[in-house]
Amino acid sequence: MPTLLEGKSIAITGGDQGIGRAIAERLAHDGADVAICYRSNQSGAQEVVAQITRLGRRAASIQCDVGKIRDGQRFIAESIAQLGKLDILINNAGLERRADFWDVTEADFDAVLDVNLKGLFFLTQAFVRHRMQAKSGGKVINISSVHEELPFPHFASYCASKGGLKMLTRNLSIELAPLGITINSIAPGAIETPINKNLLNDPAKLNALLQNIPLKRLGSPSDVASLASFLASSESSYITGTTLFVDGGLLWNYQEQ
Ligand code: NAP
Repeated sequence: MPTLLEGKSIAITGGDQGIGRAIAERLAHDGADVAICYRSNQSGAQEVVAQITRLGRRAASIQCDVGKIRDGQRFIAESIAQLGKLDILINNAGLERRADFWDVTEADFDAVLDVNLKGLFFLTQAFVRHRMQAKSGGKVINISSVHEELPFPHFASYCASKGGLKMLTRNLSIELAPLGITINSIAPGAIETPINKNLLNDPAKLNALLQNIPLKRLGSPSDVASLASFLASSESSYITGTTLFVDGGLLWNYQEQ
């Protein structure tokens, strides 16, 4: 019996750990060939490639700094060279830097915006140019955050990047629709990954956060991967320009005291 993503080739940025890794392995399980990029975690990337190969799918891992536009363009070109084509792009790579607003440095601001927004922008452009030549549509899935909506004090640059991504997604849904390309974002809440290592090591902060999550648990990378699987499949073909939240109810948990 054919699997959901049989015959599809997918590129995922930041596929060596955390949410990106769970998505890479889930989509391979669903039948896709997968190219991942990583910045520094080569051993994690090699483990993901081995796992995808064990599932009987083709895999490529390419070192790339998404914050450098030429690197992102090279990731797309090498993915196409190794897998033959790309049908779907998943923009997952991201980072955050904590600082009071008045202490944010230009270097930290650039590190966050270059990866989360500017690099993503031009990497998506390279993917769209490829799909324009293929003339058969395509899909872009962005991993945004509840912080495209919710303030996150001391993470102003991160919020600015994810808020920018929200409007980029809406804008491109209109511009890419005539090409048959859909674009959507997944907005995770608090997911148990290395990006949250400080929080995970601080029981008081963790408990306070859990009180704010109606489902009273952190999300797992697989909670995000199952939504990515749906958005990557033809089951989601009438959905574009929107954000789907995977947050245990965190976003709308306003309560009168
Ligand atoms: P993570 O475990 O820290 O993974 C981040 C990934 O991004 C890693 O694969 C990392 O590669 C890659 N990356 C970072 N900078 C890069 C660069 N310059 N070039 C290429 N790759 C780069 O974090 P995660 O939780 O899985 O985060 C994945 C996405 O989910 C991010 O966009 C994040 O904003 C979003 N998100 C996460 C949460 C959460 O609670 N975990 C909540 C909302 C949104 P290396 O390992 O090689 O550095």
